[in-house]
Amino acid sequence: MSSDIRYSVVIPVYNEEAVLEQTYRRLKQVMTSTGETYELIFVNDGSSDHSVAVIKSFCDKDKSVKLISFSRNFGHQVAITAGMDFSAGAAVVVIDADLQDPPELILKMIAKWQEGYEVVYAKRNHRNGETFFKKQTAHLFYRLLRASTEIDIPVDTGDFRLIDRKVCDVLKELPEKNRYVRGLVSWVGFRQTAVSYDRDPRLAGESKYPLQKMIKLSLDGLTSFSFKPIKLASYSGVLLTALGFVYGLLLLLFKVFGSTVIGGWNLVLASELVLTGFLLIIMGIMGEYLGRIYDEARNRPLYIVGEFYRKEEKERNVIKVG
Ligand code: UDP
Ligand code: MG
Repeated sequence: MSSDIRYSVVIPVYNEEAVLEQTYRRLKQVMTSTGETYELIFVNDGSSDHSVAVIKSFCDKDKSVKLISFSRNFGHQVAITAGMDFSAGAAVVVIDADLQDPPELILKMIAKWQEGYEVVYAKRNHRNGETFFKKQTAHLFYRLLRASTEIDIPVDTGDFRLIDRKVCDVLKELPEKNRYVRGLVSWVGFRQTAVSYDRDPRLAGESKYPLQKMIKLSLDGLTSFSFKPIKLASYSGVLLTALGFVYGLLLLLFKVFGSTVIGGWNLVLASELVLTGFLLIIMGIMGEYLGRIYDEARNRPLYIVGEFYRKEEKERNVIKVG
């Protein structure tokens, strides 16, 4: 790929037809104001609305726009990864399509990059227009993740960030499938800094992160960067065994020295339920790790590009796996 592009902007898109025009316009304005060369890489993550047609119309009038279109929905983190894989810029910016991340902040990121930082991430001061549930769970998750791992993963930081070409190339070498990109970026190191911002409400449309996807993302984050959940099994096993011994001992003492009869079948049932539930939780945690190990071992490509579309080279319908 040619390296005369200064900035690459990666925009993951999943059913965003309602916002794309505005997003394109604002990004265009900001990137033009840098006076440097740039490319806008829209990654269509299997949208079922008219997102593709809208992006193609940008491509047809503007050769800085490129479209990578997946063969189906592979997920936000994979879309970001594909955009980075295809990017050519000396600095790569990842930004959501829904304008919750203000494009104007990119200029601040670029300024930091020019000071010599290799990763500039955007830290959210406030999140506007999101549900109480989303804000609270996100708040809790970032802190839980931070407490569970030795990697310095900043809290309240999404994927809106600028990374240097060097960092992008290192990330491309990391083969893992269940990617938690913001964690990987922290893991690789380099000189990192933050710029803070207030997160705007979504311009239009619904969040494309239903609870199920939120859970998947948080489990990817936790299992990729921490062994604490799986260690819970051995710690709590030891604890329960100890409790069992003490309990048995007490029963024995009561039988020998006491006069009241304790216990009964309902006590047995209660402890049985607790223990079985507990074992199932532990098995579930193991399953989460095991499933991920299986994913890695199977080694399927991370994504399938059904189409690559841009004005310049008319390079279309290239099937490529990454
Ligand atoms: N997105 C994606 N694939 C998905 C879900 C989301 O590419 O399966 C994109 C989406 O179009 C948006 C970004 O990822 O550009 C963030 O998604 P969203 O705004 O819905 O998440 P939220 O801000 O509600 O956490
Ligand atoms: Mg959003």
